[in-house]
Parts: sequence; C-alpha cells; structure tokens
Amino acid sequence: MGDLTFRIALLRGDGIGPEIVEASLPIISKLNHDYSLGLEFVDVDAGDGALRRYGDPLPQHTMTELEKADVILKGPVGETAKDVIVPLRQHYDMYANVRPAFTIPGLKSKFEGVDLVIVRENTEDLYRGVEQLVTDDVAVGLKIISRRASERIVNFAKTIALTRRKKVTCVHKANVMKITDGLFAAACRSLKGSGVEMEEMYVDAAAANLVRRPQAFDVIVTTNVYGDILSDEASQIAGSLGIAPSANLGERKSLFEPVHGAAFDIAGRGIANPTAFLLSVVMMFEHLGTISSNKNFVAAANSLRAAVLKVYSSGRNLTPDVGGSASLKEMAGDIYQSLV
Ligand code: ATP
Repeated sequence: MGDLTFRIALLRGDGIGPEIVEASLPIISKLNHDYSLGLEFVDVDAGDGALRRYGDPLPQHTMTELEKADVILKGPVGETAKDVIVPLRQHYDMYANVRPAFTIPGLKSKFEGVDLVIVRENTEDLYRGVEQLVTDDVAVGLKIISRRASERIVNFAKTIALTRRKKVTCVHKANVMKITDGLFAAACRSLKGSGVEMEEMYVDAAAANLVRRPQAFDVIVTTNVYGDILSDEASQIAGSLGIAPSANLGERKSLFEPVHGAAFDIAGRGIANPTAFLLSVVMMFEHLGTISSNKNFVAAANSLRAAVLKVYSSGRNLTPDVGGSASLKEMAGDIYQSLV
C-alpha cells in the first residue's frame, strides 16, 4: 500500500485562503513524510483570482487538473464562492455534505461536550434551482426529492453513525410536505433494525433543539435546504467559524474545505485561524484511509487532530477569534511542534 500515490488538487482560494494554506503546508508535508502517505500536491486556480485572470472562476484548465486529481483540498473562495463549489458538486455528483460540529476542550463556548455531525443531501431539493415566474407576480420553485438520493444519503449517515454513537436523527417536515419530505422520511425509516438508533425530528424542532441541547445529537441527516441552514447554526455552537471543517463526498471525487469564507476583513493581517482548514485535512486523511485501506492515513489524521487539540488545551498560541493574541504563523508553528 505504501507505494500508492495520491494526487491532491490544492485550491488556495481568496482572502485568508492563501495565507492559511501557506501556513499549513509545512504541517501537511511533515505528516506526508513521517507517515509515508504518498501525497502529491498540484496547485489549481479557481475563484476570484481566476475570474480576474481568465474571466472564469472555474476555468477549463482547472477542470482538466481536477479531473486528474484523486481529491480536492480547497481554501475559502471569496465573491465567486458559489460559482466554484456549486458546479463542482454537480459535476462530480458529490452527494454528501458532511459537517462535524464539536466543542474543543479549552476553547470558551456557550456549550460543552458537543460532538455531532450534520450529513446534508447535496444534489436536489429547492437548490436544484428549478423555478419560474408563473405570472409577473407569482413565482414557483420545485422541491425535488428522489427515493434514490434519499436512500443514498440515509445509508451514508448510517455508515458514519456506526463509527460513532450509533444514533441518527432524521430531520424533515413530512407533517406539512407529506409527499416530498414524506419520501425522505420513508428512506429514514428503512434504518430501523439496521444497528443504529433512528429518531425523526421536524426541522423547526431540530433548529430549537440544536441550541437547547446540542449534546443530544450524534448524526443528523437531512435534505439540502434544511441541512444548509442547520449546519450554519451548528457551526456557531462550537464557538468560532474558524474551527469548522467540512467534506463534500462523491463516488468519484471528494472535496475538503473549511466552512468559513474568505473573511476579507482580516485577510493579509496574519491573524486567521488555521484550525478549520487543518481539520478539513484530517477529514481528507480519514477519507483517503477509507478508500485505500492504508492505516497510515488514520494515524496521520489522529496525529494532526491531537496536535490541534493540544494547542487549544495549552491555550498559549491561539489566534484572536478564539480568545488568544497569537498570529497565524505562531499558531501553525505550535501545531507543527505538537505533532507526534
Ligand atoms: P461567506 O459569505 O463566504 O460565508 P462571510 O463574510 O459571510 O463569507 P466568513 O468569511 O466566513 O463569512 O467570515 C465571517 C467572519 O468570521 C469574518 O469576518 C471573520 O472575522 C471571521 N472568520 C471567518 N473565518 C475565520 C478564520 N479562519 N479565522 C478567524 N476569523 C475568521
């Protein structure tokens, strides 16, 4: 297995993206070397900079490089964020958007002991954008829910739950949208007797419960629109946007990126928090470990996660968004030194 190489398309992004990626690369290179991961990084151009240079935020030569890559590691993109991520999700049918939300010991937040994952269906629902004006004053949009996509995402959520606390909360509103959300709810019910505890929750109750008792959740699975909203809510529970990672997973290609945006307000000041990007790298390692069955990836993921947590528990080199006064370079340097 040690001889396998993986090609990672590295999209540095805009705003704080390039500085976060630059500060994180020594950490990733050390893990690549120490655990013989066989990673090769290829820079690809997309986002606001690509729009300026080529008139297209996702130019053809970038798509050609992405095609050759095994996975995509992406920094935050600025104004053109949606013009990059939405076509990529569609093109590669990255059907599962996975967003863990957890509290980090040592980091002040309103909550303690939160450890949940939101699994959002990524390809259909109202975000398909099938909408039109019926008259000048009336518009309609189609909520598209299929049995195939619902079963696929529910089964994916089950797989994740089996590696965790074995509980899936299926979020929908099937009491009102009896046919569309009803189909999704039916897919969830297929989980009964499959080795995980399955509970159903209406989306309004889920939004309330997330801020009332987030500790009660393990894996939440839901449709595209509800997942978009609930995952932003959940990322706030952890205390800072600067720590929330995410994955977009598909059969053929997967993409890993921080939840936060380009944060132009702090770009160039050297104070951005690298945690969300580095925890996205942890998710990428875990994914590569799954598809390659190479245990070194799991070891590298555990090492990186532990190094990040160690820096939070010592509290010495934290960036301002998480209550410290360290620079991005100081925090990344401490994470590097904490690798074992
Ligand atoms: P988008 O629309 O792309 O989500 P946004 O401006 O609404 O962009 P973000 O760019 O994610 O949201 O950032 C919101 C605020 O959170 C920023 O202004 C910044 O102060 C803070 N922030 C986000 N990411 C980080 C980070 N990695 N480190 C420190 N602060 C951050």
